[in-house]
Amino acid sequence: MIWLDWERVEDIVRKEKPKKVIIVGPDGIVDVLLDLGKKLETMGVRAYVSGDPSYGSCDLQLNKAYVAGADLILNVGHTIGLESIGNVRFINFQYIFDEEDIEKITELMIGYINENRLNGKIGIYTISNYYSAYTMLIKKLEGKVDIAKPGKYETLLLGQVLGCNFYSAFVPNTDYNFFLGESLFHAIGLQLSTEKETFMLDPHTKEITGVREEANKYLKASFARIAIANRAEKIGIIVGEKEGQANLQKADFISRELKKFNVSTFMIIMNEITPEKVNKFQGMDAFVETACPRIPMNVEGFKKPLLSYPEALALIKIKKKIPVTNPYRGALWF
Ligand code: SF4
Repeated sequence: MIWLDWERVEDIVRKEKPKKVIIVGPDGIVDVLLDLGKKLETMGVRAYVSGDPSYGSCDLQLNKAYVAGADLILNVGHTIGLESIGNVRFINFQYIFDEEDIEKITELMIGYINENRLNGKIGIYTISNYYSAYTMLIKKLEGKVDIAKPGKYETLLLGQVLGCNFYSAFVPNTDYNFFLGESLFHAIGLQLSTEKETFMLDPHTKEITGVREEANKYLKASFARIAIANRAEKIGIIVGEKEGQANLQKADFISRELKKFNVSTFMIIMNEITPEKVNKFQGMDAFVETACPRIPMNVEGFKKPLLSYPEALALIKIKKKIPVTNPYRGALWF
């Protein structure tokens, strides 16, 4: 079952009286966004649903409000610890699980821990769309397993992780992690960043999967890209245009460092970083992008190696003869 915080939407409409809004959210919930748009139209609010995917709270699409003359942007499904940023209002979207489901998930997890003799303190984390299930699960597990208290990152919910922010999981004396959700992407991130055995608990299929093997494949691919980029004479440094990803200073830093090793760097700027756009820069030997660290890991089709910011830092270390075992170790990947 799904749930959208319609009460908050009504409250925003009542108090802020927007005439036009832009609705932004991930591709997977486009029907939910269209329903929301329809409801808003019945309230006299012109609602435009974004046809561009929004990958996170870093991808606000402010320009759409400017072009359409909209008063507000409703960002659905990327809840963080903040209710709004400027004219963006975050609207909570959840997958809802009932008591019976949570009971089953709890038993499944305890059974798995016992069967696999996982001793010690467990870190349990999730993403915003499973936060309600997460809080119910934590309550049920209390007193039955030793749960690590998550670290509090100021703009995130307690226990929340993002694809590039694993601060919640950086707590002392944790022995292994569980990720509640169905995105292998986040579970692999947890494993790579913490270097702790991580298990994904999918509340839909009620399955638990260890992700170490998959994480190692990412790591291998990452080192292969870095090794090729290490031979590059010309590197394109791509700055992302999305509001929360425009890391100009990091791009400047990488460029400066690479120049010390006689690498020619070329600054490039684009909104969505896709293989089609990047591949047309045929004269480059490799690329670094300082926008979203997950692009090189999760998007296929780049003809030349494309490195994320953590991978570019690893490349610089390798050039300086500093050993690197895991470019992704660490809480923050930006
Ligand atoms: S992983 Fe990428 S899309 Fe997700 S929050 Fe980080 S920068 Fe944004």
